[in-house]
Amino acid sequence: MMRLEGIAAEIARRYGYRPIETPLFEQTAVFERGIGDATDVVEKELFRLAPRTDESESWSLRPEPTAGIVRAYIQHGMQTWPQPVKLMLIGPMFRYDRPQAGRYREFWQFDIEAIGDPGPAVDAEIIELADRFYREAGIQDPVIFINSIGDEACRPAYVTELVAFYGDHLDRLPPPERDRLARNPLRLLDSKDPAMVELNATAPRITDHLCEACAEHFAAVRSHLDALGVAYRLDPHLVRGLDYYTRTAFEVYPAGVAGQQSALGGGGRYDGLVELLGGRPTPAIGFGLGLDRVLLALEAAGLGAIADPSPAAVVVGADPAATADRLRIATMLRAAGLVARAELSRRKLGKQLEAAARDRAHFAVIVGDELADGQVQLRDLEAGTQKVVDVDHLAREIGRAHEAHHHGVAAPSS
Ligand code: AMP
Repeated sequence: MMRLEGIAAEIARRYGYRPIETPLFEQTAVFERGIGDATDVVEKELFRLAPRTDESESWSLRPEPTAGIVRAYIQHGMQTWPQPVKLMLIGPMFRYDRPQAGRYREFWQFDIEAIGDPGPAVDAEIIELADRFYREAGIQDPVIFINSIGDEACRPAYVTELVAFYGDHLDRLPPPERDRLARNPLRLLDSKDPAMVELNATAPRITDHLCEACAEHFAAVRSHLDALGVAYRLDPHLVRGLDYYTRTAFEVYPAGVAGQQSALGGGGRYDGLVELLGGRPTPAIGFGLGLDRVLLALEAAGLGAIADPSPAAVVVGADPAATADRLRIATMLRAAGLVARAELSRRKLGKQLEAAARDRAHFAVIVGDELADGQVQLRDLEAGTQKVVDVDHLAREIGRAHEAHHHGVAAPSS
């Protein structure tokens, strides 16, 4: 998880997204208004905190980060900053659900939001950022599905048509879907129920009902993705689970896998949310990528166990009691940016060297009598050679040789 967090933070930094932390819990109203009452996340999955007193506020654990970030954007006057405000958050989210594979009550997300840019170029930039994150994390060929879900100009007429379509086929709707039809008809489109999948194949498509502005926006998002060389598939049934989304919607799956439980992440444009939460009308887009799902996908691909870095050096010694010397020299190597382990046990030198080899260390630094002259023995465990080196030159010597053998390992700073 920490490795993924590191990759996410580094990519966000490269793209100019600055970190934001929001509270793990907020007033329930932030989520109810920001996510929408008629969504599963609010209706069934919100962890509501029991009030300690009879105070009127209700508090809940955050089920997703966007509502809290937009609340902070408004509350802290970020509308006066140069736009777009580009923010990133990595942290735990909480949803009440029956825990199952890939669906946890506490899970981690890497979240990106660009607030104050109507797109379409930034939409493509963000989708490309997600694609890059997966590739750098080790996911081979993530599959990106995109769609446009229109805006307040064209979606209402489409929803009316969709409701009429389902109304004509009420007998084919499973009871939960029938119930949902009245409250959140768009959600029926991405139902995974086989009966619904069959029915949905003939349902009216939002992309056939986009107004001119939304159609142009969607075409421009696609042409920007094409220009960036990002592969994607169109999915006219892709609707995001949260109500505040407009226009661009996307979701990412591991290659060859479908089904909601394996979605690696998703995102989209939410041009209506800032106003809904009390700010000025402000266009915005973002994504939330599930880090646990990335770990599961890597495990499924046999890439789960990422080996710990083998040390550049293990510092050993003929005097089993001289742990302070060994520790001091290892500390010096670490300060120079090298991965170093000090042998702190009091076992014999032979055993210490065996352990260094088991660690796949590149070098053993053997501390002995030469230390009185400021020197140690440096044994190259890979080459099987050994020489005397001044302690003052040790970090440079190890760093240079280690760098030459192990590409991608940071060179020491001195
Ligand atoms: P959502 O806001 O539901 O679209 O979630 C965004 C991403 O977070 C999903 O694509 C998943 O990767 C991840 N995710 C959502 N819910 C869970 C959960 N209960 N457990 C693990 N990951 C989740």
